[in-house]
Amino acid sequence: MYKSLVDTLEKRYVTLVAVTKTRPDEQVMALYDQGQRIFGENRVSELERKSEYFPKDVEWHMIGHLQSKKVKSVLPIVSMIHSIDSVKLYDVVVKEAKKIQKPIEILLQYKIGQEESKYGLDKVSLESIIEKYQNHPSLVTIKGVMGMASFVDDEQQVRSEFAKLKSLFDDVKERYFGTDPHFNVISMGMSGDYKIAIEEGSTMVRIGSLLFK
Ligand SMILES: *Cc1c(COP(=O)(O)O)cnc(C)c1O
Repeated sequence: MYKSLVDTLEKRYVTLVAVTKTRPDEQVMALYDQGQRIFGENRVSELERKSEYFPKDVEWHMIGHLQSKKVKSVLPIVSMIHSIDSVKLYDVVVKEAKKIQKPIEILLQYKIGQEESKYGLDKVSLESIIEKYQNHPSLVTIKGVMGMASFVDDEQQVRSEFAKLKSLFDDVKERYFGTDPHFNVISMGMSGDYKIAIEEGSTMVRIGSLLFK
């Protein structure tokens, strides 16, 4: 599964974040042995444990909701946070990055689904983060956006939610980032919907269960 998935993704210039939550270490190591280096976790305690256990050339991504009080623990471990879902969380990440002098990449999580994910920015708070970002340079780099579609069987609905994120990305890129090459990530698509996400413009998929079948 892994090799054929990676081949498909590479052809489309899509980056794979292998989501390892709840998986035994042997299964995660098997992916590492096949060449995977970017792993995603949604819990701070697991990031702390796994980052100790696995080789140091793994890039850890925080993909789940992050409480402000946990930023301090997570920041030294991860290279990217996908789930910046409030202005307050952004401010705390900026502050902690400065404190430990660590550059960090982030994605702004935009609410595209219905009730399923309670987390995510609306357009106003998303733009207020970008304005702060542009007015106050820091060790944080905004790389793009992240979103989760509703967990429904209705393919059209999922497709239109992903299209919404792509169009938000295009709009924000044009209005705020111009030709800045750093703003280039659209993190969308999981095991059940990554094909649709790629058709709608995803550049980074977060896939767990499918990898372990
Ligand atoms: C668990 C999780 C995934 C991966 O889900 P699968 O359906 O196992 O591929 C992706 N993104 C987030 C935020 C997750 O929590």
